[in-house]
Amino acid sequence: MKRIETFLRAGFLPFVIIIGLIFPTRLPAAPGVTALRCGGMVDVDSGTVRDGMVIIVEDGIIRAVGKDLPVPADAELVDLSDATVLPGLIDCHTHLLLRGTSYNDQLLKMSIPYRAILGVEAARQTLDAGFTTVRDMETEGAMYADADLRDAIAEGHVPGPRVFACTRSLVTTGSYALFGMSWELDLPHGAQVADGVEGVRLAVREQISHGADWIKIYADSRYRDRDGDSLVGTPTFTDDELKAIVDEAEREGVHVAAHTYTDEASRRCALAGVTSIEHGLYIGDATFRLMKERGTVWVPTLTAYYTRAHDSSSAPAERRRYEVSAARHRETFARALNSGVTIAFGTDMYFPHGEGTREFGLMVDYGMKPMDAIVSATREAAKLLGIEHETGSLRPGMAADIVAVRGNPLVDIRVLENIIFVMKDGVIHKRVN
Ligand SMILES: [Zn+2]
Repeated sequence: MKRIETFLRAGFLPFVIIIGLIFPTRLPAAPGVTALRCGGMVDVDSGTVRDGMVIIVEDGIIRAVGKDLPVPADAELVDLSDATVLPGLIDCHTHLLLRGTSYNDQLLKMSIPYRAILGVEAARQTLDAGFTTVRDMETEGAMYADADLRDAIAEGHVPGPRVFACTRSLVTTGSYALFGMSWELDLPHGAQVADGVEGVRLAVREQISHGADWIKIYADSRYRDRDGDSLVGTPTFTDDELKAIVDEAEREGVHVAAHTYTDEASRRCALAGVTSIEHGLYIGDATFRLMKERGTVWVPTLTAYYTRAHDSSSAPAERRRYEVSAARHRETFARALNSGVTIAFGTDMYFPHGEGTREFGLMVDYGMKPMDAIVSATREAAKLLGIEHETGSLRPGMAADIVAVRGNPLVDIRVLENIIFVMKDGVIHKRVN
């Protein structure tokens, strides 16, 4: 650990200098008054698309929304009358410091400063794709660099979404990558190893003290096939450890998100009081009922598994495993819709940054109504992050996080894969004419 800390101290100074050279000045501040003339406007509060709406933005905040509102004389007019306008999108599960390439290479061959520079690129691509807010679900070995990226974006040094950082995630000894290496080697970890009630409490305190907005845990591991069409995995943390993690985080006002595949780990996590369950490919009906009762949110991340099931470059056995998992995921998603559990939008990044809106198409293909899919990435996602009074819908008083597409996403959800306009906090980041 000392070795990594020394390396970090030595590595971040040149990184800061490089970033300073690439972005010599800060990004523009929100202008005075802007008026957006919308062709259609997706109102996630009423679940309708409203015609002829005008949105007035001042100092980064939505001041007024109404049909045919007069445009103030001093306002800059943005004509989106040939487009449909939506609230800025929220991805509740991404990894800005991770790419869909070799996991081992990222830990063993790339320095943390290099990965952070790529993270700057990923943040810009994510914003360009319409995501004005993300929850970064841990850096996978890049230590606390997502908290640094969050701050650099918030301070206006580089473009990107508003970031909620999970920093390093928690795992138990022996449950997480890197796997299969000689025991003689002192290797970096993809997450922070913590064991025992006192150990996990200390790790939660460390992560929060270094800037974690959320605590992420890997709650099951060591997946293997059973009879070719089901999957078993080993729960990682004991129930006492899970409760201690949640207790310690919540005492500091921080929520816990749990990666699971299996029903058993999902059930244990829901009982321990985690706020969201990520992936959960094999969650059963009783656990969905439990989650609904307790208000536990499910973030399914369909595209990550769909992509791996259709990756022709992977080994046949691995692809077969993901084909089985993706098929079960689809079935689980349909049962989740029937159960009434809250679903929040998340992508996970096993495909290129900037393509996160592909998730919408799968959600709708798998049975979700287009408006519900949009709500999961706006109002519900904002609620999960505790910012529903700041962003996630287009109402006076909210941050001016606004995106636009050509066509009507309620008719064809995949128009969201081509975002033509992005405004975050009143600043226009992208405009395609
Ligand atoms: Zn993930």
